[in-house]
Amino acid sequence: MSSVALETFHAAPLSRLSEDELMFRDTVRQFASEIIGPLVRKMDEEQHFHPSLLPQLFNLGLMGIEIPTEYEGAGGTFFEAILAVEEISAVDPSVGVMVDVQNTLSINALLRRGTEAQKKQYLPKLATEMVGAYALSEAGSGSDAFALETRAERKGDHYLLNGQKLFITNAKEAGLFIVFATVDRGAGYKGITAFLVEKHFPGFSVGKKEDKLGIRASSTCELIFDDCRVPAANVLGEIGKGYQIAIETLNEGRIGIGAQMLGLAQGAWNHAARYAKERKQFGKPIAEFQGVLFQLAEIATEIEATRLMVYNAARLKDAGLDFVKEAAMAKYFASQVAERAASKAVEIYGGYGFVKDYPVEKLYRDAKIGKIYEGTSNMQLQTIGKLLLTQVK
Ligand SMILES: Cc1cc2nc3c(=O)[nH]c(=O)nc-3n(C[C@H](O)[C@H](O)[C@H](O)COP(=O)(O)OP(=O)(O)OC[C@H]3O[C@@H](n4cnc5c(N)ncnc54)[C@H](O)[C@@H]3O)c2cc1C
Repeated sequence: MSSVALETFHAAPLSRLSEDELMFRDTVRQFASEIIGPLVRKMDEEQHFHPSLLPQLFNLGLMGIEIPTEYEGAGGTFFEAILAVEEISAVDPSVGVMVDVQNTLSINALLRRGTEAQKKQYLPKLATEMVGAYALSEAGSGSDAFALETRAERKGDHYLLNGQKLFITNAKEAGLFIVFATVDRGAGYKGITAFLVEKHFPGFSVGKKEDKLGIRASSTCELIFDDCRVPAANVLGEIGKGYQIAIETLNEGRIGIGAQMLGLAQGAWNHAARYAKERKQFGKPIAEFQGVLFQLAEIATEIEATRLMVYNAARLKDAGLDFVKEAAMAKYFASQVAERAASKAVEIYGGYGFVKDYPVEKLYRDAKIGKIYEGTSNMQLQTIGKLLLTQVK
């Protein structure tokens, strides 16, 4: 760990935002409330990402936050990507995950492992018009991701991909997919290779879209590869090193899901607190009853702890320090707090919390995914536990 990295880290107290970060957060907050807010219910009901949102997300630079300016990106930090996911998810976690997968998975993997030619080819598009997706999971391989069966066979100057992916976020909107396939099943995880697959490549198609409990505006689809022709130049990183790309990308992505759940929790709390100040029973606002006020205070405390954990993991990452355990802890804890905050918000709304005219029942449904994708809670505990044991002497 360099002293420069340490200085950077200590100079930035966890929850204190710099002037630039504050401005950035406020811009995203305003966009989320004014532009995304009015579309949330319709998008949830119709299970459809409103087409007007994508160009605006690109124009604001939110789809290429960490892409350097030389590739037409915003030249921002990972921490800013985390702030954007948090703020957007406070209004709609479906839009939050769109921005999250774009920035913390797709772009991150390309920035870290792409060749100069691949960066020149794809980063300007990802910054301005192209949605990215990250395709690892299959019907038979979820937590055991490296048991994947999609095959890649070299044929001259290209590979032929065959197989299916399942549950792929952004699949309907994406133009570029980072696809993990094996070049040698006998080699186990050492056969896994990452490919950059464009949606128009022959033999590629997007299949069934899932009808989901929550984050319904976010598309989650099957991908089908039927002799899909991928140029050999589109191998991302080295042959047989796809497992490393998958692990390192998900380590960072996890902080993004922590931010999504943090934003969701804050959004639920904001609704509940406003409602509690307005709703009168027994002649006074329900927030004035200690039973309600203490619940709001307790959840706010949990949200504050979550924010410190998520920001800490993101700042560690930006400072070039170890962050894997902190990222897993942040995601694990944030998903619990999101579920509790949304559930409490439903209760504070009373009967109105249970109906779709009010926003909190949706957040309650949306919260559940935090414990499932990018590694279930059990998988986070496994990572945390293993890393902790290595420190026990
Ligand atoms: C809405 C949505 C979006 C998604 N987006 C993407 C995406 O963009 N890209 C992508 O690649 N994938 C995506 N996924 C897939 C997601 O990452 C997987 O669903 C997740 O990793 C869990 O895998 P699984 O569903 O196969 O569950 P399983 O792995 O079958 O797990 C089932 C249960 O068993 C438990 N379990 C399994 N193994 C162990 C163990 N060793 N120890 C203890 N408990 C264990 C799990 O914790 C879980 O509770 C998405 C899924 C959903 C639902």
